[in-house]
Amino acid sequence: MSQDNWQELERKLFLSTFNRVPVTLVRGKGARVWDDQGKEYLDFVGGWAVNSLGHCPSVVVEALEKQARNLIQASNQFYTIPQIELAQLLVQNSCLDRVFFCNSGAEANEGAIKLARRYGKLRLGGAYEIITANNSFHGRTLAMTAATGQRKFQEPYIPLPNGFVSVEYNNVEAVKVATLNKTCAVMLEPIQGEGGVNVPDDTYLEKVAKWCHEKGILFILDEIQTGIGRTGTLFAYEQYNAEPDIMTLAKGLGSGVPIAAFLAKEDFSLFSPGEHGSTFGGNPLVCAAACATLKYIITNDIPKKVKQVGKHFITKLENLKQQFDFITEVRGRGLLLALEFNSEIAQELVLACLKRGLLVNKVKPNALRFMPPLIITEREVDEAISILQDVLEETRNPKY
Ligand SMILES: *Cc1c(COP(=O)(O)O)cnc(C)c1O
Repeated sequence: MSQDNWQELERKLFLSTFNRVPVTLVRGKGARVWDDQGKEYLDFVGGWAVNSLGHCPSVVVEALEKQARNLIQASNQFYTIPQIELAQLLVQNSCLDRVFFCNSGAEANEGAIKLARRYGKLRLGGAYEIITANNSFHGRTLAMTAATGQRKFQEPYIPLPNGFVSVEYNNVEAVKVATLNKTCAVMLEPIQGEGGVNVPDDTYLEKVAKWCHEKGILFILDEIQTGIGRTGTLFAYEQYNAEPDIMTLAKGLGSGVPIAAFLAKEDFSLFSPGEHGSTFGGNPLVCAAACATLKYIITNDIPKKVKQVGKHFITKLENLKQQFDFITEVRGRGLLLALEFNSEIAQELVLACLKRGLLVNKVKPNALRFMPPLIITEREVDEAISILQDVLEETRNPKY
């Protein structure tokens, strides 16, 4: 079937929720993917910050093959080894003590909120409200739509579950003012990903964490996008001196298999059997992939490499900013970076890059986001920069 036919079929068959770029991908290796016409692309989208080790990394493919032959699913009625190994890896390498596995980021956040509500009921006289931030993104379930501080996601689905209030990001006072007797937790992203790669001041998270501890409410970090090495440390909180009481993970954890988790400190691990659950959550197959991913990242100190390559990348982006006056900002940490423009040209840039064999993401109408595999090399970054340079030059001097 030709490219047009697949895309035509999709338009006929699907509820139209995605703004897709006109390319049908069939294969990937490392930082590169190929479409159904055999055209090669350098991938700076990385499955939306999922493909930490690039496409089809051999350590993960081998772990999946081996596990698929032994045991794919057993249900959580039984003990299975890959999930226990994965829990141990996560607990040993973070400040958290206990873990629950599920299948998506939204689900991990749902679980974290349920745990915070248990805490409110058991320890805070029934407090239930969660403070989140404007421009945040926490997922697409109804409750996470309520938690997400963006009206455009909420409006179509009102009435939403209550118990959420959102305040200005990067404003400690706003959190303090919003903290009431009914508040049980504050939930933040260390860097807002979907909201536009918004990096807070260095002391923001630390101050909010301190406030939460003073007030006896929970400090929850949604590290779904920032976790697993993306920002240059295994978890972003390490850079901000802001240990969470509960942390959620998903995207980069499993190299593309659907796995997510929330972790809690011992003091707040308040569930009893039957109070939460999952059919697929933490099944042997996905846990084998996540174990292989995490072991590789830790053993090879990938976060350190992310720091180095990220520094190189941001320097090159700054260099572009010097050349093109319509670039208004370069921001981000590690390999979660963004370029902002003074007008809404992101979509046309995405398409122009696509033509030249580079995949990038439009995070806002006027901003591009880069979240390549963590194993990207400086040479591949230079290759992407050179394509961006051409595209930006063409935007400045359009050919009529
Ligand atoms: C992607 C994302 C989610 C939602 O994850 P899904 O797997 O799509 O449900 C939640 N929080 C953050 C910070 C994310 O980046």
